[in-house]
Amino acid sequence: MSGRDSPGPSGRESQGNRRPKLSTQAPVGVPLTRRASQVLETIRVSLTNLFSRLALHPDQSASKVIPDLSFDGFLSHWKSNGFKKIVTMVGAGISTSAGIPDFRTPGSGLYDNLQKYNLPHPTDIFELDYFIENPKPFYALAKELYPGNFRPTPVHYFIRLLNEKNLLVRHYTQNIDSLERLAGLPEEKMVEAHGTFHTNHCLECGLEFSKEWMKEKIFSDTIPLCDACNGIVKPDIVFFGEGMPDKFYDMPAEDFKNCDLLIVMGTSLEVYPFASLVGHAEPNCLRVLINRTSIDKFGSPTNKRDINFIGDCDDAVWKMAEALGWSDELKALIKKEGSKFEKPKVRTSDNKHNDDKKPKTSREVPQSNQIEKKS
Ligand SMILES: [Zn+2]
Repeated sequence: MSGRDSPGPSGRESQGNRRPKLSTQAPVGVPLTRRASQVLETIRVSLTNLFSRLALHPDQSASKVIPDLSFDGFLSHWKSNGFKKIVTMVGAGISTSAGIPDFRTPGSGLYDNLQKYNLPHPTDIFELDYFIENPKPFYALAKELYPGNFRPTPVHYFIRLLNEKNLLVRHYTQNIDSLERLAGLPEEKMVEAHGTFHTNHCLECGLEFSKEWMKEKIFSDTIPLCDACNGIVKPDIVFFGEGMPDKFYDMPAEDFKNCDLLIVMGTSLEVYPFASLVGHAEPNCLRVLINRTSIDKFGSPTNKRDINFIGDCDDAVWKMAEALGWSDELKALIKKEGSKFEKPKVRTSDNKHNDDKKPKTSREVPQSNQIEKKS
């Protein structure tokens, strides 16, 4: 899987929410200074990562960011000292307890149940070129997975609580399930790195269509065609071969400035460029990873600021809430918001033990052909 550590071919070549054409060139009209600063930022992050790996980081001799780099040590530090600026980064693992089906679990995974669409390869369902030729399979799948069929998890509500307490700087998500929005996190506090079903654009002329318009098409089994040019209209989720949203590149530099806590949940940090965000955290920023499996590259034995919690994301947020005295508040929020959902999804033993180190789910669409196909 050498491709896993490579940025996708899209790189910085995002064309915003309008992505009618594939391109490996910088967007026309982007000022040189902005482009140059993006390149410099990328170089800075790469060098920081390299120095960390080589144990040459300038802060290597500094003391630990907090005295006890265990999860309990982190909790007691938070309780007694607090954090002021928190960034969260999440992947599929925070949504498995919502009951969203896995993508590649043999037998029950969605990829194994796509035979009826006669796809040349299951991942073609998220290939832009294939989609343009034959959008039907994608829209059939979109109907099954449409946001609203699932309800947020305690993790989503914990993140909302962080925001309500004015602690959250930004939430970066790889998921396309929109559970953050459903949990009530404001759009401006989020970077949906792999896009969203919330907005839609014509692939030909770029005209935008509403979520309601798209939903009506999807649920009436009608291929959504542009009112203006008859081109195919596609939800703004990022397909293989497409660029990431501009926000993904524009916001980290400011968001991570003076950030004192980065919480990474439900991701094994294998999909780039999303995973490279952890490199933006300054040396005195505590980084906490909460995931069902450990990650070799995170928290080296000599590190001064990384904490691992190997386990269930929901369990971890309940521990945090308890330590901070927020349990009742979190319970009340879940209860209040839960009443908005008619059909609560029950957590099953099947989906409880999934994590994204194993098969990726529908909500974590890798960004490049390289990532998925060089195996
Ligand atoms: Zn159009």
